[in-house]
Amino acid sequence: MSPSYDVIVIGLGGMGSAAAHHLSARGARVLGLERFGPVHNRGSSHGGSRITRQSYFEDPAYVPLLLRAYELYEDVERATGREIAALCGGVMVGPPASRTVSGSLRSATEWDLPHEMLDAREIRRRFPTLAPKDDEVALYEKKAGLVRPENMVAAHLQLATRQGARLHFEEPVLRWEPYRYGVRVHTCENTYTAGQLVICPGAWAPRLLTDLGVAFTIERQVMYWFQPKHGTRPFALENHPVYIWEDAEGVQVYGFPAIDGPDLGAKVAFFRKGAVCTPDTIDRTVHEEEIQAMADHMSRCVPDLPGAFLKAATCMYSNTPDEHFVISRHPAHPESVTVACGFSGHGFKFAPVVGEILADLALTGTTRHPIGLFAPSRLTAAPA
Ligand SMILES: Cc1cc2nc3c(=O)[nH]c(=O)nc-3n(C[C@H](O)[C@H](O)[C@H](O)COP(=O)(O)OP(=O)(O)OC[C@H]3O[C@@H](n4cnc5c(N)ncnc54)[C@H](O)[C@@H]3O)c2cc1C
Repeated sequence: MSPSYDVIVIGLGGMGSAAAHHLSARGARVLGLERFGPVHNRGSSHGGSRITRQSYFEDPAYVPLLLRAYELYEDVERATGREIAALCGGVMVGPPASRTVSGSLRSATEWDLPHEMLDAREIRRRFPTLAPKDDEVALYEKKAGLVRPENMVAAHLQLATRQGARLHFEEPVLRWEPYRYGVRVHTCENTYTAGQLVICPGAWAPRLLTDLGVAFTIERQVMYWFQPKHGTRPFALENHPVYIWEDAEGVQVYGFPAIDGPDLGAKVAFFRKGAVCTPDTIDRTVHEEEIQAMADHMSRCVPDLPGAFLKAATCMYSNTPDEHFVISRHPAHPESVTVACGFSGHGFKFAPVVGEILADLALTGTTRHPIGLFAPSRLTAAPA
């Protein structure tokens, strides 16, 4: 019997919602299956803001994907009227040899991206809320800024629905398997068939992708919102860049302007440094000593920020051993299954272009985008 759908997408978070949009835009019959409701806060795609930037310290190989992601932010904004990106500028701060500074400069140079190098004095002059040490420098990128995760997921779901995708919420997938004409997917309510399967499981990757052979580490992360000591004006979007700040010990902290009005403060978080967890065991309580540790850290680099503590929220990273993504045909099921996982705490800014790549892979088996860095074979032990 021929399958009922062209493509089933498992997981409608950051990546799955984008895949459902791009697949349905190309006329595929799409079924999306999500264990929670639309735009929920129990995975990795919530908390109001995500940094986006092009001078990518992680690896210059990400830059072409970022250039495309920026085009797609505008497409999604135009198609839905929702605010997706706010490019307020960004500074990558640290000692000159730090990965944050030297890696950003490498990408900017290799791809000829507009940027400025600022010494400590110039950082203080341009951005008076920032208090770098004398030996710290920054790469300033005018086109860096933030994207709005909830708006982006909602927009992709809206577009997918408009284009005829069937999206089922509160319907967890229990298991899936290949069959003669594609894949069979079992949920608590039904069994569905499709020619192609796209799996975007976020922190549930260890459960849904047992035969991928990648050792994921799921990490608890905390986002903190503080009321700036002297009011939000100096932290307003029009006055303040996003920042990633690496200290001499290699600890990275990042933060945002105050984007949600005067009462909601500005958000900061540590990049990594989280406790290992699973989606079932994550401690959702944010403890007094964690809040104090963050306030102490910020008082050294953005001293006006940690006034009153307003709120905190937890979120999960899905790390691969080398912190690069996995985007690929499934090596054990290359005819019918595509995976996008292990986004290692830096994936959201890529969501629209990942959706485009997943649609390419599921519908044609290949993509024009450079995704060699994301092959799972780099992480799976070679047979002895
Ligand atoms: C605190 C924090 C800060 C971050 N900051 C940045 C940043 O500044 N810039 C940036 O680019 N990235 C950032 N990231 C990373 C980025 O947000 C993630 O890489 C991205 O959201 C991952 O999207 P995803 O689709 O893989 O996961 P998710 O959005 O979590 O989606 C996975 C979905 O799969 C569903 N699912 C799982 N199992 C099943 C099942 N069995 N059946 C049905 N559905 C299922 C889940 O419910 C979930 O909705 C940050 C992440 C966190 C947590």
